[in-house]
Amino acid sequence: MSHGHLDHSLGLPYVLSQRNLHGLGPCRLFCPRPIRRAVETFVESAAALEEVEYRYELRGLEPGERVELGHGWSVEPFAVDHVLPSLGYHLIRSHRMLAPAYRGMPGVELARRRRAGEVIDRFEERIEVSYCGDTAAGVFDLEPRLFEARILLLECTFIGDDLESKVRRFGHLHVADLAARVGCFANEVLVLTHLSRRHRLDELRQAVEKRMANLAPRLIVFGERQGRQRREKRVS
Ligand SMILES: [Zn+2]
Ligand SMILES: [Zn+2]
Repeated sequence: MSHGHLDHSLGLPYVLSQRNLHGLGPCRLFCPRPIRRAVETFVESAAALEEVEYRYELRGLEPGERVELGHGWSVEPFAVDHVLPSLGYHLIRSHRMLAPAYRGMPGVELARRRRAGEVIDRFEERIEVSYCGDTAAGVFDLEPRLFEARILLLECTFIGDDLESKVRRFGHLHVADLAARVGCFANEVLVLTHLSRRHRLDELRQAVEKRMANLAPRLIVFGERQGRQRREKRVS
């Protein structure tokens, strides 16, 4: 959980309820440390309403407090720029690679060196997914590693010149904040979420095409594709 605003937290008890209903095992939940107690009270109230027991472990985290998930995966929270205690999260994969000096060496020779106790591997890490929750543009200075994530989920709440001044007050991103950094996004895929209900998805797509044309082919406006497929299905 990134933070306590209800558009981000209200579904949490329902996820636990559904897991319970379908007999799924316990799960781990992560949230910002300052709201851990409130999240627990919230979830436990829902469990009391349903007269069931949810199976979960809830951990409050601080930025940089990495948690190993197993099989080389880990999650690492980072600070974002919002109006409540909030975190973004990196999903990181670590894998073993042959150190460069040993690449191209015959397998028999590698096996011999390994047996002799030589360290011929090294671990490389990659941020597979970064999720920023709600944030204003301060996040780009707080956590520049998000530009390197393979998949970046970033909020983009506002479009339109009249709204640029409101953005900081509400702790959100305006499409202009992204356009100003268009050359920084090295991500394979950038997913824009959290568009204000005052705008339409195709308005955001048009703004992207106009202000960030280079980025547009790698960019998904969340909800857009499904909507388009549904429209196409109706037409056909
Ligand atoms: Zn929020
Ligand atoms: Zn929100």
